Amino acid sequence: DEEKLRQFYIGAIDQGTTSTRFIIFDGLGEPVAQHQIEFTQKYPHAGWHEHDPQEIVDSVDQCIELATQAFLGQGHDISDIKAIGITNQRETTVVWDTKTGEPLHNAIAWPDTRTKGLVREMKERDGAGELQDICGLPLSTYPSSVKLVWLLNHVEAVRHAYEEGRLSFGTIDTWLLYKLNGGKERDIHVTDPTNASRTMFMNLHTVKYDEKLLKFFGVEKDKINLPKIVPSSSATEFGSLSYGILKGIRIAGCLGDQSAALVGQQGFSPGSAKNTYGTGCFLLYNVGEKPVISQHGLLATIAYDFGGNRKPVYALEGSIAVAGSGVKFLMNNLGFITHSHKISDLAESVENNGGCVFVTAFSGLFAPYWIDDAKGTIFGITQYTERGHIARATLEATCFQTKAILDAMELDSGHKLAELSVDGGMSNSNLTMQTQANIVGIVIDRPAMRETTALGAAIAAGFAVDIWKEFDELKEINQRGRMIFEPNISKEESSRMFKKWSRAVEMCRGWLD
Ligand code: ADP
Repeated sequence: DEEKLRQFYIGAIDQGTTSTRFIIFDGLGEPVAQHQIEFTQKYPHAGWHEHDPQEIVDSVDQCIELATQAFLGQGHDISDIKAIGITNQRETTVVWDTKTGEPLHNAIAWPDTRTKGLVREMKERDGAGELQDICGLPLSTYPSSVKLVWLLNHVEAVRHAYEEGRLSFGTIDTWLLYKLNGGKERDIHVTDPTNASRTMFMNLHTVKYDEKLLKFFGVEKDKINLPKIVPSSSATEFGSLSYGILKGIRIAGCLGDQSAALVGQQGFSPGSAKNTYGTGCFLLYNVGEKPVISQHGLLATIAYDFGGNRKPVYALEGSIAVAGSGVKFLMNNLGFITHSHKISDLAESVENNGGCVFVTAFSGLFAPYWIDDAKGTIFGITQYTERGHIARATLEATCFQTKAILDAMELDSGHKLAELSVDGGMSNSNLTMQTQANIVGIVIDRPAMRETTALGAAIAAGFAVDIWKEFDELKEINQRGRMIFEPNISKEESSRMFKKWSRAVEMCRGWLD
């Protein structure tokens, strides 16, 4: 059996916030070839964050080409690759002209806060209070809906295309599927429920677009091309690559990045959870086949939908806007370090945070606080403070927010989590993971192979083409070399630290722009 699984390969496109990857996995979930490219982050004004949609497609093309060449160099054939899965940064919004197939604006990336004023105004509108019960998300600058409304209000070409009924809307999954399939020729215009549930246009209960939601945002269904919502794992809906070295290979899986990580960590049973420490940090908690609408500042979302006889599975999600990007801030803006991985050494040059608390609210605070006027603030600076203390406080900020999210999840679900699986760039830092265990007081479990997001996309594709048929068959995947972090400080010490953090959060509210 193992021998057989080694002969199947699946490609995974992982289109993240700062970089694109293509990884080829074997049937045992081992990566055998990969390529990664960073692409341009555009910050045209304070709080704005854009990507060039064409550059994203080019980066995908290039990663596929180079990883596949490496794969062929190992003596494999292209026909060994059975399918491709896509996973992507979520909420990031692309609009294009249905007639030409070309983008009408840069993509507005998920952390962008240009819609702050718009959101404030929308919160006062009739019906604003009902949105979360329908779609699982609170009104904020984060979902695609408000980004689309901004484009309609401010970009003439977008408004014009909309009025003429030739405006296509999509998240990055939709845009990539469209382009990889050859654009307007084949006109594949689809999305999966995990991505659609981040737009704020989808009813979480029916997994369909909702008239009430569209109406609230003033989007008329017959003037805009919304992608068709299809299951995350499908042999027929996503088309195939229409050009390049893997031309003709079927695309069979599509999951938003955080859902893909949950699948890659095999969080298939209700009660399992994972936390991914990338640019931002995202904790997903599997709640089973019925959505749980949060009363405590979390998002409700689709975890994954494998189609066929399987029902969609839901998750509670806690999103933290700044995690690894805080490390990058210390590197790029303050010159504290020359590489991200050096942050742990700097933090370990001191014994503790020296009284510093850094609320890294660069784009407000997300879950569970949702304070959109908060700004990054460092508390507790004295003559004694060194760079090491600030480095520590930066790493701790993500750990404290994770603790606040877990507390909220416990209140929403009535269960206390026993163990948390982790991945993402910042989880490479042992110090951060030990700190996390100390602050939340539960065991942190980190796999050796941390490309779990890409692995999740490969799993969704592999299920569609019958490489695997049951989740049980995945049990052995990615079990080797896992590392466990156990809490090693007292509960009192841990709650004293968290109390300080909570006070800091209260104090960073309401900064004047
Ligand atoms: P994304 O998919 O969101 O682009 P990744 O999972 O690749 O993110 O993680 C990248 C982030 O992780 C960067 O912001 C980087 O600063 C941070 N990072 C990478 N390695 C380390 C490390 N050893 N310690 C702390 N942070 C790290």
